[in-house]
Amino acid sequence: MRHVIMGGGIAGISAAGAIRSSDAAAEIIMLSPESVKPYYRPMLASIIEKDDADITLSDDPREKYRIRTLPEKAVGLDVRSKEAMLSSGRRQAYDKLLIATGRTPVIPETIAGLRGPDVYALRTLEDARAIQAAAKRAKNAVVLGGGIAGIKAAVALTRRGLAVTLIEKHSRILSGKLDQQGSAFIAGLLKRANIDVVTNQQEYEVLRTAATLQSIRLAPGRIINADVIIAALESKPNIDAFKTSGISMHKGILVRETLETNVPDVYAAGDVVEYRDIVSNSMVVSALWENAKEMGRVAGMNMAGSQARYDGFLANRYSTDILDVPITALGLVDPEDSNCEVFADSRANFYRKTVFKNDVMVGALFINNTTEDTGVYAYLIRNRIPLGKLKAMAVRGTLGENKYVKPGTFSVS
Ligand SMILES: Cc1cc2nc3c(=O)[nH]c(=O)nc-3n(C[C@H](O)[C@H](O)[C@H](O)COP(=O)(O)OP(=O)(O)OC[C@H]3O[C@@H](n4cnc5c(N)ncnc54)[C@H](O)[C@@H]3O)c2cc1C
Repeated sequence: MRHVIMGGGIAGISAAGAIRSSDAAAEIIMLSPESVKPYYRPMLASIIEKDDADITLSDDPREKYRIRTLPEKAVGLDVRSKEAMLSSGRRQAYDKLLIATGRTPVIPETIAGLRGPDVYALRTLEDARAIQAAAKRAKNAVVLGGGIAGIKAAVALTRRGLAVTLIEKHSRILSGKLDQQGSAFIAGLLKRANIDVVTNQQEYEVLRTAATLQSIRLAPGRIINADVIIAALESKPNIDAFKTSGISMHKGILVRETLETNVPDVYAAGDVVEYRDIVSNSMVVSALWENAKEMGRVAGMNMAGSQARYDGFLANRYSTDILDVPITALGLVDPEDSNCEVFADSRANFYRKTVFKNDVMVGALFINNTTEDTGVYAYLIRNRIPLGKLKAMAVRGTLGENKYVKPGTFSVS
C-alpha cells in the first residue's frame, strides 16, 4: 500500500507514525517543501532569541518511520487517476493520501506600506532564521498582532536586546484565548519586560524612505521607530492547490469523523482542516499543535485500515510559557452564557479559573499555577465527564490528589 502525505509538519509525521505502527511493509512518501529536519514549530521564537537554539524533533521521524521524503510541493490533485501534481511537474501516484499542508501567514494589503523589505512573517524555520539575521542589524522592532506567535516573537526580540513594541488591534492581547483578567496579567508581564504593548490599533501606516523602513504611524499621530517588523496577524489554511479537485472545503478542508474527505482515500489533518470545536459545537480551524498531532494520528490509523473516530477538538487548548510563566487555557474561559458557573482565584502572581455547565467542566485557565497536570483538565473538558464530588477538587486545584485521577488512565468512578 502506498501512502502519500502532503506536508512534513506534526500532523503528517504523526500520521506516518500511526501508519508505520500498523503496517511494517507500507510505503510512506512525504512531500515536504521545507527540506529541513522536522522541528517543533511552537518553539520557532527560540531561533530568533538564540543563535544556537535547536528545536528539531528528537529521533528523526523520517528514519524512525521509514518515510521517503520528496522536497516537493503539491500544486494540484487528480482524484480520478489518484495522483498528486508536484511543483517539479512530476506526478505522484497514491493508494491513500493525506493532506496535512498546514497554514500560511498573510501579510495584509490593507495596512498602508506594510508590504516591502524588512517585514517578516513567522511560520517556518527559514522565517525564524531570517528574523534572527534582521534582528542582528536592528535596534527597534515592531510586532503586529498580540496572538501567541506575536507575543513569542516580541519576547524573543526583547531578549535579544531590541526595543520592542507590540501592536494589537483589539482592546486586549490574546483576546479569544484568555479572559480580560488573563490578558491583563500577560500584558503586565510583557510591560515589565520592557515590551511596549499598544492596543486598540485598527488603522496605522508603515513609513519608509525610499525602500528603507523607518517607522509606524499610529492613529493618534504617535510615531514608533521600526527597523524590522514581524507581521503576526492572520494566516490561512493551505488549500489553494486542491480547489479544483472536488474536495469539499470552506475555510479549511472538511472531513468526516474518520478524517476522510468527501473523496474516497483522501484524508486531511492538522491546521488545514476545519472541524468541530467540542465546547462550542461550531466548525473552526484549530491551529494548535496537540490537535494537529491527534488528528494526524487518527487519520494515519484509518489510512492503514482502522475505523477510528475523531469527534472534535478543543479550539482553545493552549499550554505554553510566556517569559517563563506557564499558561494553560482550555475550552471556554470567558463565558457569556449565564448558565455557566465560574470560579476564579486571582492573586498578584497567580490566576486560576474554572468554568462549569451543571456538573461538567467546560473551561479552565491557569496562569503561573503549576500544581497539577493540566492534561487531566483537557481530558475532563474534551470528554464532558460529569464530575460529581470531584467538582470541588477541580475548583480548588486538588484533583491530582484523587487516586482515580490519572491522565491516560482516567476514571472518576
Ligand atoms: C510561531 C508559532 C508559535 C506557535 N505556538 C503554539 C503554541 O504555543 N501552542 C500550540 O498548540 N500551537 C502553537 N503553534 C501552532 C502549531 O505550530 C501548529 O498548530 C502546528 O504546527 C500545525 O501542524 P500541521 O502539521 O497541521 O501544519 P504545519 O506545522 O504548518 O506543517 C505543514 C507542512 O506542510 C507543508 N506544505 C505546505 N503547503 C504544501 C503543499 N502544497 N504541498 C506539500 N507540503 C506543503 C509546509 O511546508 C509545512 O512543512 C504555533 C505556531 C507558530 C508559527
